[in-house]
Amino acid sequence: MSHQIVLLRASGVALALLLITACAVNPVTGQRELGLISEAEEIAIGRDNYVAGQQMQSGRYNVDPVLNDYVAQVGQRLAEASDRPGLPYEFVVLNNSVPNAWAMPGGKIAINRGLLLEMDSEAELAAVLGHEIVHAAARHSARGMERNLALQLGLGLGAMALGTREDNVGMLLVGGASIAAGLLNQRYSREAELEADRYGTIYMARAGYNPEAAVELQQTFVRLSEGRESGWLDGLFASHPPSQQRVEANRATATELGREGRMGRETYQQRIAVLKRTAPAYEAYDEGRRALRDGETDKAHTLARQAVAAEPREALFHGLLGDIDIQRGRYRDALPHLERAMARNNEYFAFHLNAGIAMEQLQDYERARSHLEKSIQLLPTAPAHYTAGNVARAQGDRNRAIEHYRTAAQSDSEAGARARRALQEMGA
Ligand SMILES: [Zn+2]
Repeated sequence: MSHQIVLLRASGVALALLLITACAVNPVTGQRELGLISEAEEIAIGRDNYVAGQQMQSGRYNVDPVLNDYVAQVGQRLAEASDRPGLPYEFVVLNNSVPNAWAMPGGKIAINRGLLLEMDSEAELAAVLGHEIVHAAARHSARGMERNLALQLGLGLGAMALGTREDNVGMLLVGGASIAAGLLNQRYSREAELEADRYGTIYMARAGYNPEAAVELQQTFVRLSEGRESGWLDGLFASHPPSQQRVEANRATATELGREGRMGRETYQQRIAVLKRTAPAYEAYDEGRRALRDGETDKAHTLARQAVAAEPREALFHGLLGDIDIQRGRYRDALPHLERAMARNNEYFAFHLNAGIAMEQLQDYERARSHLEKSIQLLPTAPAHYTAGNVARAQGDRNRAIEHYRTAAQSDSEAGARARRALQEMGA
């Protein structure tokens, strides 16, 4: 991706030429459209941003790995029935209660634990995954990037319009992670949604599922969106707004394709049994997170304890206990909780970030540095770079400190402001 973008940025004339020459036929719809981003670049965008996208959404769900395998199997079956079976599709379950699913270019797809709980059958799961496969296969998100690119170049601006929403994680991202955030926060047009519903339902039918499930799923979404809580706005309904129009369109597609095929209700219920059983523990955790954010540490602690007691295998619950101790300034007490979190899931940036913060406070610089590096590798954030700057400064490595502070200073956050002050102090 980067070569073409750099090239395009270089000259408005070059852009005009590319706009004329870079037309392509959409592999799903057969329509001609803008094609600034090649298939190789689409695949590279997805590959380079998939991990960061997962990290921003609480990382992967790993308490029941069988569930992830199951979702991936259903996804691959649909991908094979799609118009672009050759893309390097991947399907993961994210450890997040918000009902949401997303696709990055090149077939990198994720579905949240919270959305799996809202569905009744394997065919409904297939409807969600089919819909996301179309967003990837029909280049909906790649096209969104192209529109931003063309718009910016037309206006003579240098940077890509892939800003992050004003949410907690978004504010803290630095460097390449903002591209992943832009991909996640993408809003699809009504046309793109209808196209994803239609072709997704066709792929379902080809894979042997009953298209009626796409109607049921959309009805569930409409019902939920009517009584929605504020958290839902950040999820599925922001990027893929449900509507009665989509219900009707799916009904027409189901009639056209015939209401035959597998529903897979029993199989699905068996596969999500662990999720269902542990749902109250995750509710306690989510409430504990909100309490901690609001400064109610005692309430957060009670809820985190409750969650750990109900499901001790979940890394996030131990991580919350660690975060509470950090907020209370009890760095030494935080460490055993964070160690337990990392022992259960070593691939989530926040555990390493918080371990690094606690160790820096305890002047355990070498260990702090290794956790902060791991955290930055999973997801580059301003707090990790700022703290890594402090560690380097304490270790007498001025150049490395300045480098970390400069990266953190890009961010419009408290860590960014602290990094800017540290740079001033150092005369850098
Ligand atoms: Zn959609």
